[in-house]
Amino acid sequence: MKIIMLGAPGAGKGTQAKMIAEKYQIPHISTGDIFRANIKNGTELGKEAKKYMDQGLLVPDELTVKILLDRVAQPDCENGYVLDGFPRTIPQAQVLDDALTGMGDAIDYAINVDVPDENIVKRMSGRRACLSCGATYHIEHVPPKQEGICDVCGQPLVLRDDDKPETVLNRLKVYHDQTQPLIEIYSAKGVLRTVDGTVDMKDVFAAITAILD
Ligand code: ADP
Ligand code: ADP
Ligand code: ZN
Repeated sequence: MKIIMLGAPGAGKGTQAKMIAEKYQIPHISTGDIFRANIKNGTELGKEAKKYMDQGLLVPDELTVKILLDRVAQPDCENGYVLDGFPRTIPQAQVLDDALTGMGDAIDYAINVDVPDENIVKRMSGRRACLSCGATYHIEHVPPKQEGICDVCGQPLVLRDDDKPETVLNRLKVYHDQTQPLIEIYSAKGVLRTVDGTVDMKDVFAAITAILD
């Protein structure tokens, strides 16, 4: 099963993608996590990506597409995957589509997690991230067992630089300009499914599994 998660920054794509990956035993692939791991390790790719991420802008397609295509070519992706944060532009969607078509394959579902802008800024300011293992928390909705410490790996949690309110507003604008048009594209292909992302995360997941099962 090949799944794409669509939705605004902070809509809950990552939260749901992790649960999907676990239930259906497919890898969760987050381009944002790949970039953050590279920043943490001080790679050239990380240095380049950081310039854009810190401003709430998208990393150029050229760089992003190469990383994603390398990742989905790995053996663990043979039975499918859930993509979280890719594609984010029309050219990215075209590259993915062409690569899949070339293998006689296609995306099965594009799950659009729908959350209005008003809810987003509040959600993002409460998000806490572990840059070591990629786990995500929320100070009210998903608190870690011990404040400021990752339950999974024990590393300190941070407020991502790009989750500060001024950057979140930029990211929302970028989302509406560059990513939202993908909803129309996947709708035309007949694979779009929209779920209400404002309800409790368990209920969002129930709506998603009702689609995938
Ligand atoms: P969120 O889940 O909150 O939307 P991500 O972790 O997916 O955030 O992405 C963080 C940042 O990484 C984005 O704002 C962007 O700068 C960069 N990024 C991630 N995925 C892509 C992509 N597919 N294309 C371009 N930039 C990306
Ligand atoms: P995205 O990957 O779309 O940027 P995340 O999955 O990281 O979004 O979620 C953004 C923040 O909102 C996180 O702090 C997460 O714990 C929290 N969150 C996710 N889903 C919900 C939900 N249904 N209700 C309330 N908070 C949520
Ligand atoms: Zn961790």
